[in-house]
Amino acid sequence: MAHDTIRKSTATSKAANMADYAATYDSFRWEDARRLIDGLPGGHLNIAHEAIERHVAAGHGAQVALRWIAKSGERTDYTYLELSQLTNRFANVLRNHGIEKGARVYSLLGRTPDLYIAVLGTLKAGCVFCPLFSAFGPEPIRARMEIGGANVLITTARLYKRKVSALRDLLPDLRHVFLSDGTAEDTDALSPLIKAASPEFTTEPMHPEDTALLHFTSGTTGKPKGVVHVHDAVVAHHMTGCLALDLKPGNTYWCTADPGWVTGTSYGIIAPLTNRVTMIVDEAEFDVTRWYDILDRESVNVWYTAPTAIRMLMKAGIEATKGHDFSSLRFMASVGEPLNPEAVIWGNDVFGMPFHDNWWQTETGGIMIANFAAMDVKPGSMGKPLPGIKAGIVEVTEDGLCEVSEPLVVGELALRPGWPSMMRGYLHEEARYEKCFRDGWYLTGDLAMRDSDGYFWFVGRSNDLIKSAGHLIGPFEVESALMEHEAVAEVAVIGVPDETAGERVKAFVALKPGYAPTEELMLELSGHARKRLGPAVAPKEIAFRKNLPKTRSGKIMRRLLRARELGLPEGDISTLESDEQ
Ligand code: ATP
Ligand code: MG
Repeated sequence: MAHDTIRKSTATSKAANMADYAATYDSFRWEDARRLIDGLPGGHLNIAHEAIERHVAAGHGAQVALRWIAKSGERTDYTYLELSQLTNRFANVLRNHGIEKGARVYSLLGRTPDLYIAVLGTLKAGCVFCPLFSAFGPEPIRARMEIGGANVLITTARLYKRKVSALRDLLPDLRHVFLSDGTAEDTDALSPLIKAASPEFTTEPMHPEDTALLHFTSGTTGKPKGVVHVHDAVVAHHMTGCLALDLKPGNTYWCTADPGWVTGTSYGIIAPLTNRVTMIVDEAEFDVTRWYDILDRESVNVWYTAPTAIRMLMKAGIEATKGHDFSSLRFMASVGEPLNPEAVIWGNDVFGMPFHDNWWQTETGGIMIANFAAMDVKPGSMGKPLPGIKAGIVEVTEDGLCEVSEPLVVGELALRPGWPSMMRGYLHEEARYEKCFRDGWYLTGDLAMRDSDGYFWFVGRSNDLIKSAGHLIGPFEVESALMEHEAVAEVAVIGVPDETAGERVKAFVALKPGYAPTEELMLELSGHARKRLGPAVAPKEIAFRKNLPKTRSGKIMRRLLRARELGLPEGDISTLESDEQ
């Protein structure tokens, strides 16, 4: 909180979709948000209708819906009309193979157009979609397909042969495998079927409470959970895309998340399309030059990315931005992990606007707390609750739950349930689902505090809280202080058992290029942290690492650092990205 507030000009505020946060928050009703989407006759609706069909019907069929950038750099455009026809054909392929409403359709695909067509075509047909991250190994794939009872899989020939074919006998519910390229035994080639299918299809009218999507959580804190979302979620996707990401029809928008995670679906497919933007989809993995090229060449207006990527851009230095024109950029947002104040300020220096941090979870289905276009940004804060969302800081005791009203007191972040994109369950884990709710609140498992202006500040996951000599220490605060040092590229902080203090703070630091992990630098970092945080909170120990262990969705796995430190079992590491130490 030591950082200056970044003020928004009147012109910026006026141009935003939500010019007056307080007024909108006070008057907001979900019934009004519901009127912003079409719906289908008889109180029905379908996410795919809101994403595509209604724009085509309103005469926007010629607008580019999806611009795909292949690894080679080649671009292919799909208009709303083309997307409509391709997804109709896909839905017909499902029907022609006897795949009915409610069937579970999985994908194991990279970021290629087939994936986007499969998601929307599946929803049109009234089936349930579950995207799997293409880098998963066979066991995480098997486990997720078994938990969700997968009936259909869309994948590539290479992925099928390497990861799935040997599992076929273990997956009795899996009736069809469609390959987007090539051929293999016991599968069907998708392209000829798509070509042969009719481009006409009547989108299935769904009950708002019908299941639409199944998403697995990132596995940061333990075994990933299967989260169930319904068609009604589209009301929240649309509204939050408009208010929290400030999407305007016709904008060019780039969400860098993979649809294998909820961000890449809610805000990488649904919200952008319902808000009628042109979405950029890049098939390739992160690369500094490529990313700056895309922002520049594609004239991206709104960019939604994640702290890990931002920290990697920061690590590459300001020189990498030279020669690029970012004048089309109007709004930048970040999600997935706490965003250090340094990163917010860096964005402001380099792009002329801060990164707008926002907070949500697979379970919430959509953005819950955000920094908005028309609101001053306090670097390090996740912002304020979305209209329609009541957020609170609560203390959970044995006798019950009480809301903390004083500012800057740490407690569990809780939300009043009832928004349309809230999960409807953890698949096959009823008891776990019920445990999330208490006294009319949904408990998020994250710790936070609220300041006197109503801004929320992330403190840490409740499992990551460190109790040292009577102090409760949130890792984010310690990490952010170390991030201020010019040598630090990334940092994770954990508590390790200590005889006298109960726990002591230990930091794992990855350095920027050009810095050596010397004793001298360690002492310097220690001194910096003590100056910023005081001796009680500053790390007692600092260890250098080449990289920090992260999930494939880019989240630092503190539990793994802790397990390794203490010589404990590593637990579920199905979502772990390779982590060279
Ligand atoms: P799992 O539940 O399997 O352990 P996960 O919680 O990482 O994994 P997700 O649902 O993808 O799975 O992530 C949601 C979590 O990510 C939040 O509960 C929070 O801890 C963290 N998070 C997301 N956005 C932010 C943010 N802006 N600031 C701080 N933390 C964030
Ligand atoms: Mg979680």
